[in-house]
Amino acid sequence: MSIIILLSSICRLLIDFLISPEIKTHSQPTPFLVVLGNVQDGGSPHIGCAKSCCAVLWEEPDPQRKVTCLGLVDPVNEQSFIFEATPDFPKQLKALRMFAPFQKDGIPNGIFLTHAHIGHYSGLMYLGKEALNSHQTAVFMPKMQFF
Ligand SMILES: [Zn+2]
Ligand SMILES: [Zn+2]
Repeated sequence: MSIIILLSSICRLLIDFLISPEIKTHSQPTPFLVVLGNVQDGGSPHIGCAKSCCAVLWEEPDPQRKVTCLGLVDPVNEQSFIFEATPDFPKQLKALRMFAPFQKDGIPNGIFLTHAHIGHYSGLMYLGKEALNSHQTAVFMPKMQFF
């Protein structure tokens, strides 16, 4: 995939997301990105926040507000990838599967982690035997071999 196609896909999806944050379907047989979350690591409402930005959300959480995450869907090669394993990982995987119905087990071909903040790796816990019990999910995490 060329960088121009990737960048144009990002721009298109960001514009779509800003105009209307609900999930949309795409029919083009080209790789595309899906914005699955755009909230800071701590989530929303944010722990410890008593300001007006979160006051209402404690009473009425907004299901659209999920921690930063992107999905990459390649319908031509029938592959999908997710960038970040967030605390909202189960819901984001389900949302990604709506765009990648060919992914029969619902597990993407790979998980990319950009850095070692809790909003980016904590979702890996759902791969454990207590949850998904996945043994073959590829996790790419440059400079994070420690984890
Ligand atoms: Zn707040
Ligand atoms: Zn972070």
